[in-house]
Amino acid sequence: MNPARRPLVAGNWKMHKTAAEAQAYAQALLPRLATVGAEVAVCAPFTTLAPLIDATRGSPLGVYAQNMHEQPAGAFTGEVSAPMLVELGVDGVVVGHSERRQYFGETDRALCEKVPAALEAGLTPILCVGESEEERAAGETDRKLRQQVREALNRVPDERLASVVIAYEPIWAIGTGLVAAPEQAQEAVAFVRALVGDRSRRAAAGVRVLYGGSVTPENAPQLLALEDVDGALVGGASLEVESFAAIVKAAA
Ligand code: PEP
Repeated sequence: MNPARRPLVAGNWKMHKTAAEAQAYAQALLPRLATVGAEVAVCAPFTTLAPLIDATRGSPLGVYAQNMHEQPAGAFTGEVSAPMLVELGVDGVVVGHSERRQYFGETDRALCEKVPAALEAGLTPILCVGESEEERAAGETDRKLRQQVREALNRVPDERLASVVIAYEPIWAIGTGLVAAPEQAQEAVAFVRALVGDRSRRAAAGVRVLYGGSVTPENAPQLLALEDVDGALVGGASLEVESFAAIVKAAA
């Protein structure tokens, strides 16, 4: 980690936790954050956002959504927009998670609109990128990352690039227990930073790039110590306060 960039540890709850469970989690986690130097957030289901914001008001815990629509309003049944999230008090939003790309048809083209829409509304976007097992085996990791990063950031002005958080999440590592080797994580995260550098060297120095994929309290210290890794996006291990707090501690 580079001290110029404040580490971010974000827990992605996916489709887990009721409102009551989310509030109980926040109550148990908050005392553990009192002395933490890292930025910490949970990316929670839509139904838990308002109660979580109530439970965390005035605390250092950020509340993020897991998706948003690129338009501010319109005939898009079942969707939620960035201004709606901001009105609730939400701090940020995950966009382009591989599960949304795989199961819900999230495209780079939609992300090209979602990322600037999130920024304009005042949300911090966590843009997820990463290659599949087949792409890595075929030597196509860089090509895939280049396409995803370039397209999603295409309409973000250079001076706003460093406000985006990018999570490098190799698909083969998500929820599989197959964590990337430290050299693989460092190489890919540095490559993502260099892609931002193709647009703006200043933005590349400031943009936070996270690693995600089977992060646990055991492997977090090694991953979070990598030069270009500015934090973690944590799925399974964020569901329990104990394991999430241990990962947060490793980042601080
Ligand atoms: C994720 O959902 O973004 C993720 C990284 O999941 P896990 O930590 O369970 O691999």
